[in-house]
Amino acid sequence: MKKLISLQKIHKGYQLGKNFVPIIKGVDIEINKGEFIVLMGPSGSGKTTLMNVLGCLDVPEKGNYFLDGQDVSRMSEDELSEIRNKYIGFVFQSFNLIPDLTVLENVSLPSLYAGNEDIGKAKKILEEIGLGERLEHQPSELSGGQRQRVAIARALINSPDIIFADEPTGNLDSKSGKEVMEIFRKLNEGGTTIILVTHDALTASFASRTIDLKDGLII
Ligand code: ADP
Ligand code: MG
Repeated sequence: MKKLISLQKIHKGYQLGKNFVPIIKGVDIEINKGEFIVLMGPSGSGKTTLMNVLGCLDVPEKGNYFLDGQDVSRMSEDELSEIRNKYIGFVFQSFNLIPDLTVLENVSLPSLYAGNEDIGKAKKILEEIGLGERLEHQPSELSGGQRQRVAIARALINSPDIIFADEPTGNLDSKSGKEVMEIFRKLNEGGTTIILVTHDALTASFASRTIDLKDGLII
């Protein structure tokens, strides 16, 4: 198994006024290519904070993070953005689609940002994900489950090695949630590494490994 992620003694907190509040307090994680990881833990335990570091949206104060052998823990904003474009797709609980853009425009947007706009590919992914009939719709015309599938299609447009999903079924009814999880399962079977935060036991059952976070530490 090829190692994809290596976190070593990672610390991450927030400056609140004069006080520094530590949230992630020395976390070590190793993840191999092709794993399906579920990150669980009580609300406020630091799951999103840790995901933001793992997803190269934020840098830690202390510790090292090697992604595919590159030390990303001290990279600049521009370097991180390049790493994200190359390796990473994100899916969020609240979908985060742009309301004024069509489904097709939402999905192709990250390819435009990566300097490689590919509307044909966006269309193909949306067809594969069962939304071929919805290309010109606005997000507001879709159900929650459909919106989350659009968000997954958007996460796939730059062919990421890793998908990070932060409570992707949190706003969905159980049937749509299960459909969304089946898509993640298929992607994982195709070789994509999945790292997903959830509270829900059914969602967690899709994982090949569960990591439990409590008070900023792995237990
Ligand atoms: P979880 O996702 O497990 O619910 P979070 O990582 O979102 O936990 O939050 C962990 C703690 O960090 C919470 O106490 C939260 O209030 C705090 N926190 C999160 N984001 C920020 C921020 N941008 N600034 C200050 N504090 C934050
Ligand atoms: Mg969270």
